[in-house]
Formats: sequence, structure tokens, C-alpha cells
Amino acid sequence: MTIPPIPENILSLFRLIAFSAGAYIFVFWVGLLVWTFQDIRRRSRDILAQILAVLLVALFNLPGLLIYYVMRPQDTLADSYERSLEEEALLQSIEERLLCPGCRQRVQPDYVLCPSCHTKLQKRCPHCDRLLHLKWEACPYCGQGVKE
Ligand SMILES: [Zn+2]
Ligand SMILES: [Zn+2]
Repeated sequence: MTIPPIPENILSLFRLIAFSAGAYIFVFWVGLLVWTFQDIRRRSRDILAQILAVLLVALFNLPGLLIYYVMRPQDTLADSYERSLEEEALLQSIEERLLCPGCRQRVQPDYVLCPSCHTKLQKRCPHCDRLLHLKWEACPYCGQGVKE
């Protein structure tokens, strides 16, 4: 008993399916590589890290992508840039507050006036005695008005 030959049209259908699946996987794989490359470029300027990330995904596909996802830098370069700006602004405002606006001498945060040039730095709340900004017209601690 012989196995009847598979009809030619069925064979070509199988070939078409195999080809489509192959093409689909290839496009998916290239897509992963492109995504990884663009993602790592936003997170690192290190060429070696970029090559490693793309290689990882090229060799291991989805598991590689998963590993990359866990190990990649959490912040994008834009994020870190923004954060460094924020930190700088914060530092600057602390420095500003600790300098006398009259003579630029260093003053302590609880000084009421500058010991060098006697510029008024802060005022005291007449009700609760806490230090207030000169511009404040009400005390945020006790809620009383402090108009002079
Ligand atoms: Zn001063
Ligand atoms: Zn007060």
C-alpha cells in the first residue's frame, strides 16, 4: 500500500502559509530591533549599551526584550535632563534665600535682619512669634493678619 502523493495545489498552499509566517516573524523581529534601538537611544548615549541592547533583542527576541526591559535605564535622557534642571533650580533658590539681598552676605535662615547691612530679612508674627516672609500679609501658621 502506498501513500497517495499530496496534491500539488495543497503543497503550494502550505508553502504560501510557511512563507507568510516567516515574513510575519521577520517583520516582527525587525520591528522589535527598531523599537529597542530607538528606546535605548533615548536612554543612553553609550554606544556599547546601544549595541548590547539591540544584540540582546536580535539574539533572544521576546525573552531578550523582556531582559532589556528590566535592565534598561529607568530614566530617558530627557527625564534626567529635566530632573537636573529642577535640582539646580532648587539649589539656587536655597542659595538665594541664604544670601542677604542688600549686601549678598551669607545669612542664616532664621535671621530677622542682616548683621552686616541691617537689611530687614524677615518679620515675626505678632501673634505666634514665628518668622514670616516680608511680603506676607497673613500668618500661615496661626491665620492672623499681619498688616503693618
Ligand atoms: Zn546685608
Ligand atoms: Zn502667626
